[in-house]
Amino acid sequence: MNVKILNTDSLPFCKGCGHDLISKNTAKALEHMGLHPLDVIMVTDIGCHGIIDRSLNTQTIHGLHGRSVALGAGIAFGIKESGKKVIVFIGDGGATIGLQHIMEAARLNLNMTVVVHNNMLYGMTGGQSSGLTPEGFHTTTSAEGNPFAGYDICALAHTAGAAYVTRVTGIGDISEKFVKTFSVNGFSMIEVVEICPSYGVKFNPGRKLNEIIETSGRKPGEWINERDVFTHHPGKKTSDLFTKTQHVIKSFDHQLNQPLSLVMSGSAGEGVQLAATIVCKAAMKSGLQVTQKGSYPVTVGIGFSTAEINLSQAEINFHGINVPDIVVVTSSDGLAHSRKRIEMMKSGKLFIDLSLTAPATGAEIIPYDFRGIGSRTASLFATMFFILKTGVIPIEAIFDTIESEGLSTKLPVDKLKAALGI
Ligand code: SF4
Repeated sequence: MNVKILNTDSLPFCKGCGHDLISKNTAKALEHMGLHPLDVIMVTDIGCHGIIDRSLNTQTIHGLHGRSVALGAGIAFGIKESGKKVIVFIGDGGATIGLQHIMEAARLNLNMTVVVHNNMLYGMTGGQSSGLTPEGFHTTTSAEGNPFAGYDICALAHTAGAAYVTRVTGIGDISEKFVKTFSVNGFSMIEVVEICPSYGVKFNPGRKLNEIIETSGRKPGEWINERDVFTHHPGKKTSDLFTKTQHVIKSFDHQLNQPLSLVMSGSAGEGVQLAATIVCKAAMKSGLQVTQKGSYPVTVGIGFSTAEINLSQAEINFHGINVPDIVVVTSSDGLAHSRKRIEMMKSGKLFIDLSLTAPATGAEIIPYDFRGIGSRTASLFATMFFILKTGVIPIEAIFDTIESEGLSTKLPVDKLKAALGI
């Protein structure tokens, strides 16, 4: 073991801060265990303890306040190699903000260690009470002494199912306690009760750490559950995302010279989003870049349904559409939803069902009986009609997509072809 866990002896905490003791004892324990720093994944939380990051030679991740246990859990769950150690540093504030994350990691018995820096207040923000502040302890927000008992976080984690939990007093060499905690196979937690000289000592003059712990009723100890470490759901196989990702093979040629924005608007239940997906996949098969966005009310079964599609030869960096190039409208719901955008069009094309009255617009208006084929396929029919008229992608790409998506028996393909005259 040549590389030290810490890269400095001069840690960035206030003089006498208990975080200094925790960091040095953590480092001593890991070095004693023979762990290389790069085999240690340290996840820190928001709080004074988190400024240790730059003093570490380990892998280091800085989490959001209270969320570092969730981050650590994800890492512990995802690590495939053995010999890696996931450690979460968190304060008493973060531990109570993210208490449910601790409970879940303990309940699942994930293979990780949480080190709770319990100095009984929020040090970084000025000494406010946390959920672990003992009854009677004075803080910025409890000038008369905290009226409530703090959570017994060890009891909570133990009850949730943690393999090993211990509470220790942050005085002297406690590295052996860390070695024991870090060596557990499963979820382990060490709560180090310490004091913040800047606020804890200032607001509680004359009180000693051992007396505060004694009075709080949260005595040092250890609690064990004999459990198997959680690695995966029995009987379920996890696979990585990429094995499930479908790769689109270009098999058609498009005729698009410049980016095109398309809005399809109809009614819920009339296949607008499905038609949009078919267009997008067909466009990808034709070698185009695509974005697709759907809009509909929370009552997904009634009201409008609108799809926004961007097609381009180049990478698309903004998927929004302000004034579209093409609008396809197949129902009064769709017209009401897209009316303003149609009115803003100074050029382009509006494909609109014959039953509807087109608003004033600078777009070329192309009315057609899209609903005559049936309301459920009106949007797909209108989309095919638009593709035939504009030729941006070959209509064969649409039928190929319907086939490859397993939709040929669900959609009236022959009827659609007959209606299109192909
Ligand atoms: S404010 Fe308190 S907790 Fe923060 S570094 Fe200083 S002594 Fe430590």
